[in-house]
Amino acid sequence: MRDISFDAIAEAVRDLCIEANCALPDDLKCAISAARSAERSPVGQSILGDLVENFTFAGERRLPICQDTGMAVVFVELGQEVHITGGLLRDAVNLGVARGYTEGFLRKSVVRDPIRRVNTDDNTPAVLHLSLVEGDQLTITVAPKGFGSENMTSLHMLKPSVTQEVIEDTIVRAVSEAGSNPCPPVVVGVGLGGDAELAAILAKRALLRPVDAHNSDPFYAEMEARILEKINRLGIGPQGLGGTTTALAVAINPYPTHIAGLPCCVNLGCHVTRHASKTL
Ligand code: SF4
Repeated sequence: MRDISFDAIAEAVRDLCIEANCALPDDLKCAISAARSAERSPVGQSILGDLVENFTFAGERRLPICQDTGMAVVFVELGQEVHITGGLLRDAVNLGVARGYTEGFLRKSVVRDPIRRVNTDDNTPAVLHLSLVEGDQLTITVAPKGFGSENMTSLHMLKPSVTQEVIEDTIVRAVSEAGSNPCPPVVVGVGLGGDAELAAILAKRALLRPVDAHNSDPFYAEMEARILEKINRLGIGPQGLGGTTTALAVAINPYPTHIAGLPCCVNLGCHVTRHASKTL
């Protein structure tokens, strides 16, 4: 067994909250820059130029890329040979989020109760997804999620007999109906299969895939390319003001499912699809 301390986890989460909010992953920065050159609408080009200027300025000054610094979604891959000393994993993650959002001067956007809505004042609790994996390491990914895009999530419990075209059109329609709300250009995460709640997690996880990576399964890689093309023909464009760049990437995360169903969850990441990782 290898010991990893509560304090080391809290510190890593603190740093990742700040890092993720101030610096976009390189693949996303490149995709937005490339889209600016390819965009056909002058207004769209101008908006993409503003987005490039914004993330460049934020990175240089260590400022948040967007005013909505999100709910802290934290994925932890815990090696089964790791022993956490000094406290509970969940408490360490929440302490790290509280410190990151407070010391990094990030907006606190979490309310203690969904109806009574009093702010917790430190952006806790995080949404924690824990996976037990092989080995003696612990990998943390912090993916702050703004709710302009999260509110556009949709779950479709499709019939297992639907054609592939119906599945693709369902995904395209979800983006079309979201319109400008998720601050396009978006990254489209799709969870396909499993059950209802797993499809939602698969879709969220799909947003972590580098936007320049292709699905490892050629069948899904082709499907992603077709859907991306259909979405970019919708004309929604950057920030919804028209253009040929509505989505930067489509990532499908498939999983085995029941013979009687076909869950399909679409989770949209905005042009600030942030995430940062560290392995301890
Ligand atoms: S959807 Fe994204 S870009 Fe739009 S306000 Fe929310 S975090 Fe910011």
